[in-house]
Amino acid sequence: MGKLALHWKILIGMLLGLVFGFAMTYFDGGKTFVANWIEPFGAIFVKLLKLIAVPLILASLIKGISDLKDISKFRKIGLRTIGIYVLTTVVAISVGLVLVNTLQPGNGIDAETIEKLSQTYANDSGVTDKLDEALKQKNNGPLQFLKDMVPDNAVAAMSDNKLMLQVIFFTIFLGISMLLVGEEKARPLKSFFDSLNEVVLKMVDLIMLSAPYAVFALLANVVSSSGDPDLLVALLKYAGVVVLGLLLMIVFYAVLVSLYTGKNPLWFLKQISPAQLLAFSTSSSAATLPVTMERVEEHIGVDKEVSSFVLPVGATINMDGTSLYQGVAAVFAMQVLWPEGLVFSNQLIIVLTALLASIGSAAVPGAGMVMLVIVLESIGFPPELYPIALALIFAVDRPLDMCRTVVNVTGDATVSMIVAKSVGKLGDPKPKEWDDHLEEVR
Ligand code: ASP
Repeated sequence: MGKLALHWKILIGMLLGLVFGFAMTYFDGGKTFVANWIEPFGAIFVKLLKLIAVPLILASLIKGISDLKDISKFRKIGLRTIGIYVLTTVVAISVGLVLVNTLQPGNGIDAETIEKLSQTYANDSGVTDKLDEALKQKNNGPLQFLKDMVPDNAVAAMSDNKLMLQVIFFTIFLGISMLLVGEEKARPLKSFFDSLNEVVLKMVDLIMLSAPYAVFALLANVVSSSGDPDLLVALLKYAGVVVLGLLLMIVFYAVLVSLYTGKNPLWFLKQISPAQLLAFSTSSSAATLPVTMERVEEHIGVDKEVSSFVLPVGATINMDGTSLYQGVAAVFAMQVLWPEGLVFSNQLIIVLTALLASIGSAAVPGAGMVMLVIVLESIGFPPELYPIALALIFAVDRPLDMCRTVVNVTGDATVSMIVAKSVGKLGDPKPKEWDDHLEEVR
């Protein structure tokens, strides 16, 4: 596999994984074999990516901020980023709502399917855990997210991947203070973090060497552990609407990139494709973040001053795919279970709550489903129907999660290019390879 471009290697790994996982479902003990002997390799890969996420955010954000010659630029980047993130998310939810209202995927679902789905999934721990988690978040006040963003212990924040926003908060605080003590005093810290940043990016290169094999394991496991195919077919129309919406979002990003930055959209998609494929295989924007950062900086040419802020923030708060999905899923659940709720005002409420929910969703597999409960609650969906609503979409949640994570990651990369262009920080790509200095150490 030496000469082939990385995205082809990963794609081949994925396809082989799909075929292998599918084939194993036909053998006695095949599923157990995959779970015992294949799945761990995928899990180790995801752990390695998560392992370097915090050091990477720390090092690259500090490098980004301390490279800024004046702080007002940081404010400009920050405001633009948040503004464009909100805008793209609103576009995504609107696309989802238009599609689900016109294509009406809920109409084809009969009572028998609903019954079968709720029997299979309403008491499944996958559904009940998500409901519990959503109910916990429900009792929070409106400013809870701000409270959650500020850590009271920097080391504790860095020790938990779920607290990424706290790490970002601390790092920005540290970076700005470094600027304010003046160049000379900040120099030792700056060179330390510069060096850490180089080293962690090299770790990304090394981890990516195993990507084609890891995606094989990840996909084989997804396929061999998936549920009843009959139920998947019943939900095909709903899944089709979500996937169509997600595809339209990719087209939307391509058009944005081409109009605003003048770059060829196909070139953009090709450069970012390894990150997209990993997003698909891992269903986690957070695990994909190191690769997204490496692709955007080295292969697209976005300056670290921009990418180091835009991408980690985006991985946690900008989830266009997730919010599109929430819009579609909420209306789909109404079409099937609560048609009285299908009024225009409820659709507006969905836009608002899906926007807030996508900001609040963690960048991990299945997080979007938890926030869906919050969206359902905001429109007054009957609480006794929550478990059935979740059961209804649970069967196809994993594949849709994989697809929406691709859109989440592509959205972040698009916005980083736009913000970079707007502040004159979109340069030429300078890819580095894992073995650039191999001869020196041999
Ligand atoms: N898995 C998604 C992500 O990490 C979140 C979700 O939609 O569940 O971006």
